[in-house]
Amino acid sequence: MELFKTISELRQALNADKHNGLTIGFVPTMGALHQGHLSLVNRAGSENDRVVVSIFVNPTQFNDPNDLRNYPRRLDSDLALLADSPCDYVFAPAVEEIYPEPDNRKFDFGALELVMEGQFRPGHFNGVAQVVSKLFDVVKPDKAYFGLKDFQQYSIIKNMCSMLNLPIGIVACDIVREADGLAMSSRNMLLTPEHRTIAPLIYKSLQIALEEAGHFTPEEVKKHVKDRINLSGLLRVEYFEIVDELTLEAVSSWDQKGSKVGCIAVFAGKVRLIDNIIFAK
Ligand code: AMP
Repeated sequence: MELFKTISELRQALNADKHNGLTIGFVPTMGALHQGHLSLVNRAGSENDRVVVSIFVNPTQFNDPNDLRNYPRRLDSDLALLADSPCDYVFAPAVEEIYPEPDNRKFDFGALELVMEGQFRPGHFNGVAQVVSKLFDVVKPDKAYFGLKDFQQYSIIKNMCSMLNLPIGIVACDIVREADGLAMSSRNMLLTPEHRTIAPLIYKSLQIALEEAGHFTPEEVKKHVKDRINLSGLLRVEYFEIVDELTLEAVSSWDQKGSKVGCIAVFAGKVRLIDNIIFAK
C-alpha cells in the first residue's frame, strides 16, 4: 500500500495502472475509519484491480465550524487499518492541495437537496459535490463506492455523475452497524458514555417504524419515532422523514408506488447522528 499526499504522485501511479488496463475502484472518506468504511474498501477490492481510498476532511461540506474543528483526524491508525485491506493507494492531501484557490462552483440538485440534510445543513451537498467531483477528476475511477448510511448523499452523487456525464459506476453499500444496532460512524467516538448507551434507540425506533408501516399512516409513524426518541430526554430528533427512494419527496401514503426510505438525524448532545431504514415495496 502506498500513501500519496499530492495529486501529481497519485495521477502518476494511476496512469501507469490504467496504461496496463487495470480497473480502478475508489472509496472517498473523511478518515477516522471503521468497519463501515472497510466494507466499502473490501467491496471495491472484490470488483477492481486497484483500490484507491481518499482521506480528506473536506472543509467546504461543513456548515458548522465546531463540527469541522472537532471532526476526528487519525491518519496513523487509518493507515494501520487499511494496511490489512485490499487498499492499494491512500490519498491524504492537505486542504491546499485540493483547494489551491477557492472553489466557487454552485451545483443545483433541485428537489434532492432541498430536504433533510440539505435543509438542515445548508451548503453541505454543494461542498460534497465540489470535493467528490475534484476527486473523481483526479482518480477517474471505473467504480466509486458509497455507503447507504448517507442515503441522500448517495442520491446526490448519482445525480452529479449523470449531470456531468461521468462514466463512473456508483455502487451503493449496505449500512454496517455495531452489535447493538447503532450505525457505525466516525462521530460515534465523540459520544459521551451516556449518549453512547442510549444511541441504539435510534435504530430500534427505525425498526419499530418498519413494523408499524401499513398499520399507521406515514405521518403517524413519523410522530411515533420522534416521540419515542425524544422521550429518552438525552436524544433530540432534528428530522425524521419518510421519502420516496428516488425523488426524496415526502410520502403521504404507503400505497404510493416505489420503495420508501425513512431518514433520520438526531442530536446526542452536540454530536449529530444520521441513520435510515428502507421500507420495502
Ligand atoms: P465519511 O468518512 O463519513 O465521509 O464516509 C465515507 C463513506 O463511508 C461514505 O460513502 C459513507 O456513506 C460510508 N459509510 C460511513 N459509515 C458507514 C457505515 N456505517 N456503513 C456503511 N457505509 C458507511
